[in-house]
Order: sequence, then C-alpha cells, then structure tokens
Amino acid sequence: MHTPLCHHAKGEPVEYAAHAVKVGLTEIGFSEHNPMREEDFDNWHMSLSNLDLYVANVQKARDQFPQLTIKLAMEVDYIPGHEPWIRELRERHPWDYFIGSVHYVSESWDLDNPTKLAEWKKRDPFEVWKIYFERLTMAAESRLFEIIGHDDLCKKFCFYPNEDCTPLYASFLDGAKRADVAIEINTAGLRKDCKEMYPNQQIMNMARERNIPLTFGSDAHAPTEVGMNFAEAIASARAAGYTQSCRFTQRRRETVNLL
Ligand SMILES: [Zn+2]
Ligand SMILES: [Zn+2]
Repeated sequence: MHTPLCHHAKGEPVEYAAHAVKVGLTEIGFSEHNPMREEDFDNWHMSLSNLDLYVANVQKARDQFPQLTIKLAMEVDYIPGHEPWIRELRERHPWDYFIGSVHYVSESWDLDNPTKLAEWKKRDPFEVWKIYFERLTMAAESRLFEIIGHDDLCKKFCFYPNEDCTPLYASFLDGAKRADVAIEINTAGLRKDCKEMYPNQQIMNMARERNIPLTFGSDAHAPTEVGMNFAEAIASARAAGYTQSCRFTQRRRETVNLL
C-alpha cells in the first residue's frame, strides 16, 4: 500500500488502516516507493527527506488502530547498479520487508509509466519482456528483498509478445527458488488495461510447482483499494495448488494457512 509521499497515491496511512478494518483484514503493510539516491531521478518515488515522515505516518496508523497488525515496508526499485543504495536503505529503519520491483528496463524507461507509451511502440514486446524478466531474476537473486513484486508488470498496457514466454518465467522462478524469496499475487493488474492480476495463472502454477512462498497485495494507491479483489486472488492461488501464504515480521518469514 502507498501514501501521498509518492505524489500519485491518495489518503494517509490512517485512512488505509480504517478501510482495512472495515473490510475485515487483520494485517496490512505499507510499502511506499523507496527514495532514490538522486532526488530528481523521477517524479513518482518518495523523497529521502520524507523517509522519517513516512515511518512516523505508519506509526500513527499503528497507534490509532491497535487491533490491526501494520507492517512497515517499502517497495524498492531494483535497477542493476543500485544495490549499494538499497543496502543503505535497509539499514535506516526496522523494516518488516522490502518488496523488490522492476519498473525500469533501462536507466530512463519505467515501462509501466503511462506517459511513456511511445517507448513501447518503438520496440518488439518480446525484447522488452526479456529485459524485464532478466532484471526480475537479478532482483530475486540479489537477496535484497523478501518479496518480488508484480511479477509480470510488463503486460500492463497489453503489449504481448508472440513468442512463448515460458523460459523467461522459468528462469525468474528458478532464481527466486534459489534465493528463497517470496513472490506476491497483486490485484492491481485487474485495475489496469491488462485486466488481470499480477502474475498470470501460468506463472502462479509454475511458482507453486517450485514451492515458492506467496504473499497477497492490493498495491492500494487509495484507501478504498485496500484488499480489493482478494477473493479472486485467493481463488487464483488455490487454483495453482497453494494452501498457504506467508507474512514477514522484521524480515523473518512465517507461514499462514489460506482462509
Ligand atoms: Zn505507485
Ligand atoms: Zn510497483
């Protein structure tokens, strides 16, 4: 879940927490877009000068909703070469987990950015998907993250390759297995052009075959999106054969049975 500090989400953590209680969730986690080392890197990450404020805002939600377990986390961009910065960020606060995400397939192209659709039109989708999954595999193998986020974000705008992507999925999931990192089922995709959760059912099935731990996320950018479409997410996990998911406290993984 996000906060207004990334400039593209609405509602304070207390409002997200209130909605979570309303829809009957017992645990939520905030995972704002991490600060980048260069403050002017782009316009959708939180600023480093707001990092302490972010932690304080999450604490405020914890104080106001003691009946709800609230995890302190970040969604952290994986870009090759940024590893030392990510390590520095890990040390700054007692995070429960980092979600490692790939948005950037080059230093300047975040492939899910709606203002950069022209980039997609210049390229062969398979070439982009290949780079995306190579970076996702590197993110998994970096061991900097507890969870790898929205694992087929490259489908967001429906630029689908004609080629079979099974080998791309397999090398990512094999990497995730080797590094013992979890993946998430993220319902935000249902709210995008692709109208499908991240990841697709094939990746879910392949993840289950490898026994890769699973978390659930709505990637809420507004309080009313908290826990959205979780029934469908659980159905997708069950269809793949999952009977358990996991949660993280201070980076330690714990297994929980699916409802
Ligand atoms: Zn966002
Ligand atoms: Zn993301």
